[in-house]
Amino acid sequence: MRSTSRQQVDALERGDLPPLDRVRDDVWALAQPMPGGHLAYSFTYLLRDADGGVHVIDPGWDSDSNWDRLTAALAEIAPGAVGAGAVTGITGTHLHPDHVGMAARLRGASGAPLAMHAVERRALERHRVRQFDVDEALGRLADWGVPAGRRRELAQDVDRSPEELVLVVDRELDDGDLLAVAGFRVSVMSTPGHTAGHLCLRDDDRDILYTGDHVLPTVFPGLGLGGATPSNPLADYLASVERILPYGGYEAAPGHGYLFAGLGERAAACADHQLERAREVASVLAGSGGGPSGPTVWEIASRLTWTAGWDGLHGFQLLSALSQTRMHQDFVSTHGLP
Ligand SMILES: [Zn+2]
Repeated sequence: MRSTSRQQVDALERGDLPPLDRVRDDVWALAQPMPGGHLAYSFTYLLRDADGGVHVIDPGWDSDSNWDRLTAALAEIAPGAVGAGAVTGITGTHLHPDHVGMAARLRGASGAPLAMHAVERRALERHRVRQFDVDEALGRLADWGVPAGRRRELAQDVDRSPEELVLVVDRELDDGDLLAVAGFRVSVMSTPGHTAGHLCLRDDDRDILYTGDHVLPTVFPGLGLGGATPSNPLADYLASVERILPYGGYEAAPGHGYLFAGLGERAAACADHQLERAREVASVLAGSGGGPSGPTVWEIASRLTWTAGWDGLHGFQLLSALSQTRMHQDFVSTHGLP
């Protein structure tokens, strides 16, 4: 894997925000800062269509300064446009607020329709109406074998949804659909795993794959981060990695980090990283003696290696460690290791 954008890598090494980057004659990458410290920014991609309008992929975290950055970029690439007036369409790769947080503001100011996967649209609606049930949360933690004294600490974060977003989705996207962008042929690839309705966008004319948070150059994406799903996020993710391998020679335009070549190799490394964890869980299960009910999620998690150390995990981090362990345990017992 190597970066295809010198200025993005230089900025990353300096700890600066990359400047507006021209990816092709009619495609730009705009870095939009986000809070949290884990990743400094997400990428918004701007596609200038054959009629001079602009299609926006993932408008980014919602803040006044990001809004100013976006409108300044629009003025630069679509001169004559006032404010968000040039925007003719918006697509969200998935429901996280660092990707679509500003979609409502942009939709309101431009009148452009917002398109997302149908699964994300339904998840956004579910998160808005859900009532938190503390007894149910405590029950689930008990099922996972969490000691009684630790359950309260975790209960308020169980099933925590991504930051609440109020978004009106105008168009539901599904696998194989084409985005409505004049002069472009960008097709939708359903790639569940990071979230259940995550999608990648493929431009076969320009050999670009917009990967959202499916494959990233500097970190391995977390899985199952869009609310509960009936399927196993790891099994979904591995299948989604397989789906993009035929396009492994395309330039990757990711949601964070920098544009890069070597997408196939990086996607395989992301899958391997997840399988490594599943293998570790399998070996804990194999060494546990195989009693009738087996070890609890808590017991398995406590025997895995964690960057912060098992004892260093608290609150949301601990809960996240437990849910990932639960996902891997379920994967190993229902799918087996490839
Ligand atoms: Zn995400």
